[in-house]
Order: sequence, then structure tokens, then C-alpha cells
Amino acid sequence: MISITGGQVLLPDGRRVPGVVELEGERIVSVGGERTQALRGRTVDATGCTVMPGLIDLHSHLTLVPELDRSQVVSRAKVALSGARQAVRALRAGITSCRDIGGVQHVDLALRDAIASGAVPGPRLECAGQFIAITGGHAWPHIREADGEAEVRRAVREQVHAGADFIKFMASGGVGRADESEGAIQFSYPEVAAIVAEARAAGKVATAHAHPEEAIRNSVRAGVRSIEHGTHLTEELAGMMRDQGTFLVPTFAIYRGLASAGRWPELAPRAQHVFDVKVRTFAAAVERGVRWGIGTDAGSFFPPTLIADEIEIIAGLGFSPWEVISQATAGNAELWGWSDVGRLEAGAVADLVVVEGDPLQNLSDVRNVRATVARGTVYDWRVIDADPGRPLLPA
Ligand SMILES: [Zn+2]
Repeated sequence: MISITGGQVLLPDGRRVPGVVELEGERIVSVGGERTQALRGRTVDATGCTVMPGLIDLHSHLTLVPELDRSQVVSRAKVALSGARQAVRALRAGITSCRDIGGVQHVDLALRDAIASGAVPGPRLECAGQFIAITGGHAWPHIREADGEAEVRRAVREQVHAGADFIKFMASGGVGRADESEGAIQFSYPEVAAIVAEARAAGKVATAHAHPEEAIRNSVRAGVRSIEHGTHLTEELAGMMRDQGTFLVPTFAIYRGLASAGRWPELAPRAQHVFDVKVRTFAAAVERGVRWGIGTDAGSFFPPTLIADEIEIIAGLGFSPWEVISQATAGNAELWGWSDVGRLEAGAVADLVVVEGDPLQNLSDVRNVRATVARGTVYDWRVIDADPGRPLLPA
């Protein structure tokens, strides 16, 4: 039994109550009551903190670490080690589940399994395997290039065979390199339809990276589960998405970061443009009833702490702290069909985060992660950082 004591506990209805959260194995056994097992078990001190569900990132790339992008020849061993480090960074950012939406050389799938078995610390992952993209398409060279209906079907089958949980494809260009355009349509409609149909035949959903209107239309029409980025979403497309239950993951923070960080001057003007357009189209899509989730694109340029930026940016568009925090937890879990995480309640998986302060009063307190609990394993960062075993959990 582990007891998290002394903090304010964030309940699924948004109330905060003083009390204890008790964990047994991988599950939460009680929330917000008195400590029942005073004489045995471990205690985690949450004095001055809010105990809340672990954050869920619906758009991560833990094996797509930035230092790999400048090299075309990267060993799987190097990817694996970098991915394991990113997984710990995600835990430090308070993230306990990721939809890892495109990885390198299938290392994402091995990382997922290593985390699930307890061999490597990290958030729970569901993974897409390799991105499927046209020859030279977005995220090259970290893609499974495929052209034509027969080849995209084969590419989907390869991901399924390797153990992917879902399929990710690039329906358009992006802002990853100076020599590509986010306005470029990548894949014809028949190719997109073949990808989605082949995924469905294997019992999987497909999800599309799509910026321009036509790429979004091709993807929604073919029946993707979600649109990633969705920059040039129109009201008509938003209506289609709402009616089909296709959700949107806008990923604001990466574009603001690319525009403002100063490290990618060749990408900054386009990133700023994408951000500005997205602010308008996202508001219109929400107005039309499109369901949306919180995802970061962490790994492609920035570390997993990007989730705090995403939360703050979306709050700045007119949502309350509770609305964005509940979306980053229970809301994201519901969109992706994870029924056992995202809420602090007895019986749920013990995925939670202890943050200093009160993010419902001061949203940036989501950055002050004191401890992360992932499937019942406690990572108390103050203790870890003071411990000689720290090199096992890099900062
Ligand atoms: Zn991405």
C-alpha cells in the first residue's frame, strides 16, 4: 500500500478536497479519505501540492529525438537509448500515457513493450510504428515511403505485423524542413482510402497528419479517427468531423516554439503563420462541435514538457484551467478509448501526478511536478534527484 498524503486531491468533478490517495499494486484503492493503513506501507508527502490524474499526450514521438534528425544513418541502438531517455522526460513532465504517433525503425514498439514489462521507466504507450508517407514526404527520412494503393496497403500490413496499435500517415507536408511545404498534398484520395481501409481490415484505426483543406478532406472522407494539426480546417470540414466523430489534435505549442525559439530561423515565419491560422480555425471547429484533444508533437523538436505549453496556450484561447486540465486527463483518455486512466477514483489505474501549488488557480503550476506515479510506481523527483542512483533516471 502506498499513501499520498497531505495534498489537495483533484476529483473527477473538478472539486479539490484535502485527503489521501491510496494505491495498491497498479490500482487506486481510495481517493480523498483518511489514511486507512497508517501502520504499514509507504507514504508520499504531498503537502502544499495538488494530486491530480497523470497527463495524457495524444501526439508524441518519443523515439523521434531532435538530434537524430540531422543524421540520415542512425542505429536502432541509438534510437532506443534516446527513446528511453525521452520516456523518463515524459514522466518528469507528469505524463503517464502517450499516443505515440509515429516512431523510428519500430523502436517505439520495443520501447512500449519494455515500459509495459517494467524494464524501462516511462508512460504507457500506444504506438503507430513507422509513419507512412509518400517518397520524400513529411518527416523524411524517418518514414516508411510508399506510393500507390498496393504499396500503401503493404506499408500498413508491415506496421500491423510489427505490432503497431494504430496507423499514422502523412496526408500533407509540414513545417519540419525548409524544403517542404505544409500546403503540399501528399497521397491521393485513393491512397488515403486504401490506408484507412487496410488499417480497418486489421482492426486498427488510422490517423492523419494534415494541414491543407484537401488533405483534411481526403482523410476525414476516408474515415480516419483523428486529424493531427488540421490547420486549414473549414466550417464544412468541421461539420463532417463532428458528424463522423473525428477528433482534432491541433498541436499549437510546437508551432509557437518553432516561431519563437530562434533556433530554426528558416522555419519560423511558416510556423508563425500556421499558428495564427490555427487559432482561428480551431475556434471555429470548437464552435461547430468538433471534439478536440491535447497533444504536443514532443520529440520532433521539443521535449515532453511541451505539454505544459500546450495546456497554457489552449487556456489562453478561452478555456478555464479546469477545462484544459480535464481535457489533458479524462478527456484525452475518453477520446482514445482508455477507460481506466484520467480520473482519480477507486479502481482506476494508479497513474497520477503530484504538482506543487494549485494548477486550477495558477495553471503554470502543472510545470512543478514533484512526483509522478505510473501504474503504481512512484517517481518522487526530489528523492531521485538527491539519490546516487540518479543516472538511471536522467534529467
Ligand atoms: Zn507529429
